[in-house]
Amino acid sequence: MSTYDVIVVGGGIIGTSSAFHLARRGHKVLVMDQVAIPNPQGSSDDHARAFRFTHGKDFFYTSLAVQTAPLWKALQAETRAELFVQNGILELVQDAGKYENDCVKVLQDLKIAHQKLKPNDICERYRMLKKSGFKWGLYHSSGGMVYAKKAIEMFAKGVEKAGGKLEAGVRIAKVMKDKGAVVGLKDSKGKVWKAGHYLFSAGAWSRDVLEDVGVPFTITRQECLYLRPARNQGRYRPAHFPVMLLHAKGFHIFPVHIHGFMKVGSHKKGVVNRKAVSPLVPDKKFEKAARTILKSFCPDLSDFSDLEGRVYYYTRTPDEDFVLDKLPGLTNAWVAAAFSGNGPMFAPLIGKTVSELVSGEKPETNLHRFRIGRLKLRKK
Ligand SMILES: Cc1cc2nc3c(=O)[nH]c(=O)nc-3n(C[C@H](O)[C@H](O)[C@H](O)COP(=O)(O)OP(=O)(O)OC[C@H]3O[C@@H](n4cnc5c(N)ncnc54)[C@H](O)[C@@H]3O)c2cc1C
Repeated sequence: MSTYDVIVVGGGIIGTSSAFHLARRGHKVLVMDQVAIPNPQGSSDDHARAFRFTHGKDFFYTSLAVQTAPLWKALQAETRAELFVQNGILELVQDAGKYENDCVKVLQDLKIAHQKLKPNDICERYRMLKKSGFKWGLYHSSGGMVYAKKAIEMFAKGVEKAGGKLEAGVRIAKVMKDKGAVVGLKDSKGKVWKAGHYLFSAGAWSRDVLEDVGVPFTITRQECLYLRPARNQGRYRPAHFPVMLLHAKGFHIFPVHIHGFMKVGSHKKGVVNRKAVSPLVPDKKFEKAARTILKSFCPDLSDFSDLEGRVYYYTRTPDEDFVLDKLPGLTNAWVAAAFSGNGPMFAPLIGKTVSELVSGEKPETNLHRFRIGRLKLRKK
């Protein structure tokens, strides 16, 4: 007899949110991670990730954000933990602005409050910015940040509180199948773990764990710098500094967090890796590019000297949509992966949806864009 109702492979933000929502519905859940929960080498192990209602012309993802924001607020109210900070998103336009104009249309259609701002108005509000550094800006105050690492810790605690279990340092090496179902998971030491249902939320390792399924996941290296402003730290706190996105060059800049560091990251498609591997240190070229972009619109920040770097991985599909579906030919196993640059912001919605799927209910969210059937599977 199985000890658990559901085993979740992968204790990142997607796995822990799913386990949390499953546990709350009364499922006995086990979350397993090959390293730790949270895993310092996983994609979710960062202080802050952006939450934005702006997804270009993609009405679908904006409406997912509309569904997710109240879930973050409810979790925050219930746990009294600061998880979702609506310090605003400011998109600074340095090119023709097609992406941002598309965003405006969708925000209008969905009646999400926003402002198109001229450089003068922007610099009046954010005095550290350079007027000639951008053509205009799009601001929405309901966007901001989710505190990803804190959220994982909160979800994990919630799982244990509801009677579930966490197992860190266990790597699943083989998925055992029989008669159209997963019948167990063999770890790297040969121990077999059994449950009635299985969720694979292995982030950048999904391709390895589900090798025989052949979902065309691509892993890209995405670089980040954490820098301490050389002066005027107070100006860069979340209350005074929204998340700034510069899509033309693919940069995002986050306010100072508790340790006094700001984050500068790139969401331009990074180098493709066969798998998630070290080194997790960015290239020197990235530091140079970060200084150049900062100099272009916020010179006050560009002479930082105190810095740290990190590399995270995006897990992507050819059409950049997520994968959230039952595994082909199996009655009791699901996959939730390929969240590229968007997992944490939608984490409570994904977790809730997984719990509906595993419980045999029709999910409230339309999943047609996330079906495995839309993808050409790799040959075995
Ligand atoms: C630079 C960068 C910036 C980003 N910015 C944003 C942002 O602003 N907003 C946003 O919403 N998203 C952002 N993202 C995306 C986001 O970080 C990811 O979508 C998200 O973290 C993916 O979560 P996950 O749970 O799927 O994967 P992970 O967090 O990587 O978790 C997967 C876990 O599975 C475990 N695992 C893997 N294989 C096994 C195995 N065989 N056995 C046991 N355990 C296993 C791993 O150890 C890992 O802990 C960004 C990503 C990057 C790289």
